[in-house]
Amino acid sequence: MKTPLHERSLVLVKPDGVQRALVGDIISRFEKKGLKIVGMKMVWADAKLAEEHYDMPKEDKQALGERTIAAYEEKGKKIDKTPVEVAEDVQRRLIKYITTGPVVAMVIEGAHSIAHIRKIRGHTNPLAADVGTITADLTIDSYFISDPDERAIRNLVHASGSPEEAKREIDLWFKKDELHDYDLAIEKVLYSKDWEATRKDLVEGK
Ligand code: ADP
Ligand code: MG
Repeated sequence: MKTPLHERSLVLVKPDGVQRALVGDIISRFEKKGLKIVGMKMVWADAKLAEEHYDMPKEDKQALGERTIAAYEEKGKKIDKTPVEVAEDVQRRLIKYITTGPVVAMVIEGAHSIAHIRKIRGHTNPLAADVGTITADLTIDSYFISDPDERAIRNLVHASGSPEEAKREIDLWFKKDELHDYDLAIEKVLYSKDWEATRKDLVEGK
């Protein structure tokens, strides 16, 4: 794998982040890191966009359902549904959450941006998140509170989990002419002009 100098990620400040006036705080964490915002807008997603955003292949649904059932069983709760049915329940909760109000959608670019952004966002479950991350610092939600209400855990930020996910999500949320090409000062400091040309053979981990 080539070093992904211009890797892109879709980041959403979810409706709870907008409601709680945390947009500035959240964006500034990514900016200060040295990542580049190449697209940004406020969107109130309709059901169609939300469904497409949380759409997943059948095998991912199966895996999500199995994970969720295992987590419930660990807490001593028996589930009488198939994994796919459980995953579809989870998807319905996610769609409801993401459409409750406007989100701030961004495409953020930089070397290893997906990994950096996931670290800054923190663990999905705020109770398990490391201090310094968004989910640890800015919310006290937990599965303990959200499960009985049958709602998605409110964790302020969505961030793409892989390059494939990022590509699919960016194409869904942004048109080509909404993404902008410009230079950030940090790029001049870190990368020489021919950085990519001279390091095409770079393999991660080598
Ligand atoms: P992540 O946001 O870390 O990529 P997932 O893609 O697995 O997490 O899930 C999408 C969103 O669904 C999470 O951000 C969270 O809001 C919610 N969520 C995930 N798992 C659960 C769960 N077991 N119970 C409630 N909400 C969940
Ligand atoms: Mg995810």
